[in-house]
Amino acid sequence: MSIKVTLLGSAVSHWGEDPWARGSWSLIGRHGSPQDRIALGRPVSDRLWIAGEATHPTRAGMTHGAFEQGRAAAAEAIERGHATVVVVGAGMAGLGAAGLLAEHALEAEIWEARDRIGGRTAGVEVAGGAFDLGANWLQQYDENVLARLAERFGLRTFVTDFDDPAVLTGEPFPGGLEDDLRKRLAAAAPDASLADVLDDWLRDPAPWSPAEIHRFVDAEIVMDTGAPLSWLSARHGFEPGVGEGDRWIAGGYRRLTEHLAKGLRILLNRPAAGILIADDGVTVSGDDPEGGQWSRNADAVIVTAPLPVLAAGAITFDPPLPEPHRAALTRLGAGRVEKVILRFDRRFWPEHGYYRVHGPAQTCISEWLDATAADGTPTLVGLFAGDWLGTLWTGTDAEIATRVAGIFRNAVAESQAVHCRPPAPPTPPGTR
Ligand SMILES: Cc1cc2nc3c(=O)[nH]c(=O)nc-3n(C[C@H](O)[C@H](O)[C@H](O)COP(=O)(O)OP(=O)(O)OC[C@H]3O[C@@H](n4cnc5c(N)ncnc54)[C@H](O)[C@@H]3O)c2cc1C
Repeated sequence: MSIKVTLLGSAVSHWGEDPWARGSWSLIGRHGSPQDRIALGRPVSDRLWIAGEATHPTRAGMTHGAFEQGRAAAAEAIERGHATVVVVGAGMAGLGAAGLLAEHALEAEIWEARDRIGGRTAGVEVAGGAFDLGANWLQQYDENVLARLAERFGLRTFVTDFDDPAVLTGEPFPGGLEDDLRKRLAAAAPDASLADVLDDWLRDPAPWSPAEIHRFVDAEIVMDTGAPLSWLSARHGFEPGVGEGDRWIAGGYRRLTEHLAKGLRILLNRPAAGILIADDGVTVSGDDPEGGQWSRNADAVIVTAPLPVLAAGAITFDPPLPEPHRAALTRLGAGRVEKVILRFDRRFWPEHGYYRVHGPAQTCISEWLDATAADGTPTLVGLFAGDWLGTLWTGTDAEIATRVAGIFRNAVAESQAVHCRPPAPPTPPGTR
């Protein structure tokens, strides 16, 4: 069946190459643990805090975790009596930190490297509508502080049921696999990787088939991390977050960040390159485009630059960060999940809400949100992870968009049946 449809507009993310992100969200590598997140967030000389999603022990990789960490760092700076604070980064953590400092009438200035606020929440206009190339959902909705703010600001949100995707290619995997995996991960050796556990599992996969296990791992781990399984910690690499009442925001996260930024002093195009910590204060500095130097003295600094940006040495600390912080930067890392937004003249896919498309090989996975409800124009938001990115994310953005639109169209056209709700787990041997 050929589907005649016109692509009205598209946008494509490049988080892996973005110098101010260097990946999508933080993850725990095989030598790390949540303790590294805590260590990274500990104050240095009572004047420097590293905040941001990577420092949250239980809500890492999510906007509300970042926001909470920014506010927690600001609260500690206030408690220590600091009156002037520089905040590096205007993402959720930076906006949270500066917002609390402003509530206490303290002098706060945000230095933001980009020409926009929001960081890894990144609004984009596509064919007359506003969508997100970064964070999409308010996760863990019931206990999400940003969800409460979205409600207070009167933002329109839509629920996504991640447990019930329409599987357009292949069969859905059976229920029960996650419980089995969780048991295996909890029993793994401290330094084991997710790949080690998977290898063991595939040696004795019953009652599942190897193909079911692979589809499950691709959908649940590769899609949620975008990292190589051989790097991810078995015990800590599969962190909670997705699928707890998640809602996306009509008009995108920008509707939220614009509220949060109101009244704050934010300097855009102002990358911080050096932080000097002395007994009586801190100096934050950076290179201005005219060949000179920006510099600002303050009582304290809260750094919310993403973990891989810090690990790459984009900011020099004098004296260097303490050993536990430096160790944490090596044990944590980030994966790569990329997004595409496609708007069409008509909807050619079955109405369902959320879709999964497995790629041509293992660890090739994409998931798709139907975001048509935002303004009525047929819209798909696709997320891609794994080995597929190497072949799909090449050439111009228009080429990438056309290529991945073709993948979704073929999946719809070829799918014999749209599989929803996972089938029940197989009966364990001996109980039939
Ligand atoms: C594709 C994708 C999908 C996602 N989906 C979701 C989702 O659905 N729900 C969810 O909760 N989370 C999601 N996330 C994760 C979420 O976006 C992040 O966890 C959160 O936005 C991080 O906030 P942050 O303030 O810690 O970091 P950031 O948002 O990265 O903010 C840090 C800021 O620091 C700036 N900066 C960096 N270096 C410097 C420097 N040297 N000087 C000055 N400024 C600097 C950056 O430009 C940036 O603005 C997603 C992320 C991606 C990439």
